[in-house]
Amino acid sequence: MSYPEDYATAAEQELTSVLQSLRQFPRSHESDLLTEHEQGIGHFASIHENAEDRFVPVVSFISHGLERDEQILCLTTDELRENLLTAMRAGGIDVDIALDSGSLSVEPISEISSEETPGETTVPVKRLEQITEDTETDEEVRLITQMSAVCSDDPNRDDIVDYEHQLTHACKELDAISLCLYDRTQFPSALLRDVIRLHPYLLTDTTASQNIYFAPPDDLIGLGQPERHVQRMLDTVQTLTGTKTTLMKKEEALQQTDEQLRLALEAGDLGIWELDLQSETAPVRSLRHDQIFGYDNPPDDWGFEHFLEHVHPSDHERVKRSFDAALESGNWSFECRIVRVDGAERWVAVDGEIYYDREGTPIKAIGVIKDITERKDLERELRTEKEHFRLALENSPFTAFRLDTDLRYTWIGSPHDDFDPEGIIGKRDDELLPPGAAETVMEPKRRVLETGEGVREELTYELPSGTVSYDLTVEPLHDESGEIIGLTCAALDITERKQHQRELEDTISQLEETNQRLEQFAYAASHDLQEPLRMVSSYLRLIEQRYADAFDKDGEEFLSYAINGADRMREMIEGLLAYSRVETEGEPLEPVDLETVFENACEDVQVQIEESNAEIQKEHLPCVEGDASQLRQLYQNLLSNAIKYSGDEPPQIHVGAERRDDWWQISVADEGVGIDPDEHEYIFEIFNRLHTREEHPGSGIGLALCQRIIERHGGELWVKSEPGLGSTFSFTLPTSE
Ligand code: ADP
Repeated sequence: MSYPEDYATAAEQELTSVLQSLRQFPRSHESDLLTEHEQGIGHFASIHENAEDRFVPVVSFISHGLERDEQILCLTTDELRENLLTAMRAGGIDVDIALDSGSLSVEPISEISSEETPGETTVPVKRLEQITEDTETDEEVRLITQMSAVCSDDPNRDDIVDYEHQLTHACKELDAISLCLYDRTQFPSALLRDVIRLHPYLLTDTTASQNIYFAPPDDLIGLGQPERHVQRMLDTVQTLTGTKTTLMKKEEALQQTDEQLRLALEAGDLGIWELDLQSETAPVRSLRHDQIFGYDNPPDDWGFEHFLEHVHPSDHERVKRSFDAALESGNWSFECRIVRVDGAERWVAVDGEIYYDREGTPIKAIGVIKDITERKDLERELRTEKEHFRLALENSPFTAFRLDTDLRYTWIGSPHDDFDPEGIIGKRDDELLPPGAAETVMEPKRRVLETGEGVREELTYELPSGTVSYDLTVEPLHDESGEIIGLTCAALDITERKQHQRELEDTISQLEETNQRLEQFAYAASHDLQEPLRMVSSYLRLIEQRYADAFDKDGEEFLSYAINGADRMREMIEGLLAYSRVETEGEPLEPVDLETVFENACEDVQVQIEESNAEIQKEHLPCVEGDASQLRQLYQNLLSNAIKYSGDEPPQIHVGAERRDDWWQISVADEGVGIDPDEHEYIFEIFNRLHTREEHPGSGIGLALCQRIIERHGGELWVKSEPGLGSTFSFTLPTSE
């Protein structure tokens, strides 16, 4: 029987779609279906596309049978026999042993057929029976028929259908498994379409598919009967529609999963890549993958070499090594620096999986890539900060520690190398210190837990080793919700400093006491000395008045020395008294207008001014915080000295004031005799003078008194002077604002 032309074209299209859908249909491994075939008919067909493919399923089918000690009969032609044997050898089958042992027979179909049914090519049932009988056990028989051998010259549908029909029955009878090999190039499509329907199972490569197009052979026999034909076609259409719907649903679900996966990967900012390990090219990549390398438009060719070109030179070797290791382990995971197209340096993380073929040869790698520059930057910052913190801690005298809300130590960082926190972690102060000390150090910590306010306190407490002092800072530690979850503390051992401070305070108070005693002594002495001195002076004057005439020249001279001495002593005692009273009898400090003070002081030295013809220039003087009468005394002394030590010319005096932060700096400058710098300190000491009384009268207490007054005001007094160039006395006083 032959097919009309248009029928053949339609059949060709249908066959293509049938084969396609069969390939996509859920597959089982050949062995599963072969084992299950007892429930159905052990009748397989393999339709191969070209000559190279044809032996793949056969070799797999035969080696599976041989493994199970089954008998294999291959029906072929003389020409094809050698090809088949070569393919079996290439597939790892020890053909010679199999042939020798009789478990494998490769025989020309025409010869056996004609032995059984001369002139016709039929299933060699007798031969099969014979093989079945020969096998003593339950071993089965596998029959492989190269269908081109059945009707090599003219593929005739009736012959094929007839042969397949016989085969189905024979397989059933003899419990044999049969595989029919069809070369797609040698049979018309329409015929092959029917062939597919004749087989409950199809074999492609090494996997077997259950044939949804299978129609029991009896139905196919009467192709000429229209009703059956229509029914069969309808069935086929129904089956195809069903399959198509299932496939479409599956495809939709797959697309949905694909989309979800794509969205998930995009959300994670991941780029996808697939690397063909044979060609080392990676044509399949997501847009994000290329963007990570700085490409706005995907580059035409991309592969392992291109990737390596972007890897930072310092990371090259490491990446290559990780790739080699991945081929062994199956997982490729690494982080490295890349240089983008624009030259920017970035960090990426790559994770991939290697896929292998049946021989274990790696064929492809699929994975993701992510730009992790920000994470790396953060990690680096964190590392630096940690390092800084560690250095700061190591170089700081502070011991830092953390406590939980039960006041147990959870972490301690100590600057002391020999410090071992092990014995302290997990404990509380009252488990570590004597009761009194524990109470002292726990109290501020409890307070911080209660109030949430940090504190800084100096604590002193007794330990068996002695008194210790700490400068303790306690701050609350919060979680994200703001709740207090513990405390961070820093403690500085200030025992030594405290000791020094105590010693210093003791010394100061001792000094103050001594000073006070000295002042009292100076006051008492000067005060009490006045009385006898006054008596000496009075009687000396009395002697002078009454008995002066009785004295000879020497006597008069001696008497005058005695009177001068007594006067000088009075001046000195008065000066000393004034000096000792500066601190004790001064007025409280209050805002004082220096203009007024200065005016009064000028009045005090008016006679001197007039006698010397002194000229005084004055800038505006400010208000200061001071004792008006003491400051008047100060001006009086300085003006008096400026006039006294002015030399031969009439005194030229300049009084100025300058603001210095919270202080006023006041100066009194003259153009007088000046003072040698070596004497600058000397003249401020009590009773020290650089001139004799004959040259200039004076007791040498004036500048000492000035200094004491300025000290009481918290300021300083100093002189700048050179002999012959005049002197400038300056002092500072607090502003009154
Ligand atoms: P006195 O003036 O009573 O001697 P002071 O204590 O006032 O005592 O001065 C101490 C000494 O400082 C003076 O004897 C004088 O030698 C020197 N002296 C003070 N003021 C001036 C001045 N303006 N120019 C030069 N020498 C001065």
